[in-house]
Amino acid sequence: MAKAHELRQQQLATMARRQGLPTCDLVLDLSAAETQCPACRARFQPAGHERCPACGLRFPR
Ligand SMILES: [Zn+2]
Repeated sequence: MAKAHELRQQQLATMARRQGLPTCDLVLDLSAAETQCPACRARFQPAGHERCPACGLRFPR
């Protein structure tokens, strides 16, 4: 579990870099009712979203 989680965070950071977005150390928790985008820090409900509704950062699934 810890390994998979680490990998997802790495993928997320890579995707954010490719899109020219900054990332911070926020943990993206897609299973939570509400989470916070690690790039723009917008709060949103991750269910049904493939990307951040605010900045468009794609989430690795
Ligand atoms: Zn965002």
